[in-house]
Amino acid sequence: MKIPFNKLHLTGYEIKYIQQAIDMESVSGDGYFTSKVSNYLEDLLQNTRVFMLTSGSHALEMAMMLLDLSPGDEVIMPSYTFPSTANAVLLHGGNPVFVDIELDTLSLDLKEVKKSINNRTKAILPVHYGGVSCKMDDLMKLAGKYGIMVIEDAAQGLGSKYNNKYLGTLGHMGCISFHGTKNCISGEGGALCINVEDKDLIERCEMIRQKGTDRHRFIKGEVDQYTWRDIGSSYAPSDILMAMLYAQLGDLEKIISSRKEIYEKYINNLKKYVDKKIILSMSNVPDNVTSNYHNFYILMRDKKARRILIEELNKYSIKAYTHFVPLHNSPMGIKLGLNNSKLPVTEFVGDRLVRLPLYTDMSWEEVNYVIEKLKEILEELN
Ligand SMILES: *Cc1c(COP(=O)(O)O)cnc(C)c1O
Repeated sequence: MKIPFNKLHLTGYEIKYIQQAIDMESVSGDGYFTSKVSNYLEDLLQNTRVFMLTSGSHALEMAMMLLDLSPGDEVIMPSYTFPSTANAVLLHGGNPVFVDIELDTLSLDLKEVKKSINNRTKAILPVHYGGVSCKMDDLMKLAGKYGIMVIEDAAQGLGSKYNNKYLGTLGHMGCISFHGTKNCISGEGGALCINVEDKDLIERCEMIRQKGTDRHRFIKGEVDQYTWRDIGSSYAPSDILMAMLYAQLGDLEKIISSRKEIYEKYINNLKKYVDKKIILSMSNVPDNVTSNYHNFYILMRDKKARRILIEELNKYSIKAYTHFVPLHNSPMGIKLGLNNSKLPVTEFVGDRLVRLPLYTDMSWEEVNYVIEKLKEILEELN
């Protein structure tokens, strides 16, 4: 049996909707399916304005543009994240400030965030690792005390909740990804959620998204010609991609419940190896969090045990992967001189984390095969 790490889930409606978009000649940005998708997301997520974008990275970049960063402005984020989180800040003139994560959620450690706040801190960028929220209530309280903006990197978090509210809607702004590796996909795609009632901010967002023009007013018939009014770029996704996404969103609940079953099967079968300390810890969902089960990870004893596990699984044609190289120790982090940060938990996790195969259409036969081989290898590592 061959077990890939990830596999494309299709609902069966993708081609139908894409064909419909083409038949309607709705192929560029802000067509029929773009409004279908943003309306769907606004109804689901509640209390947010949703802007469909070309990627999750662009959602982060647009959020940084909306913050109007000045040189020297600092944005606090974990180092244990995808490069896009830091790129967004750098591209728009700010400095990323890396802080450590907590071992239970692999998201921002608020004690460390607090220590890093100073008068140049403009924003905090929490990353919800694997679709599990960081402690958003406490983070919002902390940010509120200092008047700092919070932008959620909820790239992996569509459908997850914290205290019964959807991720992406808890901060001032939230960024979601529909990249081909996420739970619901358009191939490449993203969304920016604006969660504050700020007309000027929303107006600027509309313009930045459409090449710095007031095209949104033209579409609504409010002006008879649109023109250049602000800086901006081309961030509206093709309606063909939004047709694909509209099909995918129809399966959102099914996708989450199917992943949940696989996730729980891993948990139940691997618990005893945590007790035996062959595995140090694994994915978990804190009490006030509802997960979308984006991934399943385990932390191995050390780097060597991780390498052996991945190699042995590979021999059985099972693909397991590490995850982020902590950004402060990446080649770019070193070039920027950010590698002097002391981030012990991040480095600990960076050396030990393995993600196991988890995809929506993974069959019981496939899950059982992975678990059987895992058990064999873990016993050997004892
Ligand atoms: C996927 C991801 C991104 C980037 O999203 P794209 O849509 O691929 O640009 C950003 N941050 C995190 C944490 C991600 O997992």
